[in-house]
Amino acid sequence: MRILVTNDDGFRAPGLVALVDALGEIQCDITGKTDEILVVAPDRECSATGHGITVHRPLRAEPIRLGCWEVQGWAVEGTPADCVKLALDFLLTEPPDVVVSGINRGPNLGTDILYSGTVSGALEGAIHGIPSLAVSLASFTDNNYQTAAMIARDLVVRIVAGEFPPDILLNVNVPALPPEKLRGIRVTRLGTRRWQNVFEKRCDPRGRVYYWLAGDAVDAPGEAGTDVEAVSEGFTSITPVHFDLTDYKVMEAIRNSLEDRN
Ligand code: MN
Repeated sequence: MRILVTNDDGFRAPGLVALVDALGEIQCDITGKTDEILVVAPDRECSATGHGITVHRPLRAEPIRLGCWEVQGWAVEGTPADCVKLALDFLLTEPPDVVVSGINRGPNLGTDILYSGTVSGALEGAIHGIPSLAVSLASFTDNNYQTAAMIARDLVVRIVAGEFPPDILLNVNVPALPPEKLRGIRVTRLGTRRWQNVFEKRCDPRGRVYYWLAGDAVDAPGEAGTDVEAVSEGFTSITPVHFDLTDYKVMEAIRNSLEDRN
């Protein structure tokens, strides 16, 4: 079983290490070794870089060893999408059975997934036809990734066992709760997240004005069945996602007026 792992918080992030340690356990159960896990992750924090790729400068990559199993990997001077592209096109001799991105520090819910480097890493796997997982811990302060790592590990086992459709992309958000407080899993749709107080206007020491993007997430209330709702109620949210952004309803609605019918 070959597993490609990436993230957007950088290769030193504790969420990545917890994930690799948990995935290493599956490998050891099956083969007694972990040499079929490859980590290819950014060499620094790359959160909110979306699906950006690097085309105007070279990609440097340094070999690394990670976690309690000393899993092999590469720290890449690029985005999560760069990392997965480089791994699939060059570093790996055979395609992996699954791509796992995470475990992200902080949630990736609703409309925010469009900005997410974590989700984009998994999306790049899905674009290549490989089942992929994006895993996030829904907290910026909680550093306990154990439960999320166990959930990721369980999903990888089930993906490799062929339990799900072959080219799935699952966006997984785990509430930052002790295991006994977690209420289970909900399969969800993407909810709506908006941001308020988004920009701060400030002044630098030389008197020049600048703007800093920050803000607070505001979830649309009362949206039933969404990832936002599930996590707020203490459930792990799993949303199947697809990169086909076509609006099929509008496509039908505008076809008659826009297409030439001659
Ligand atoms: Mn991140």
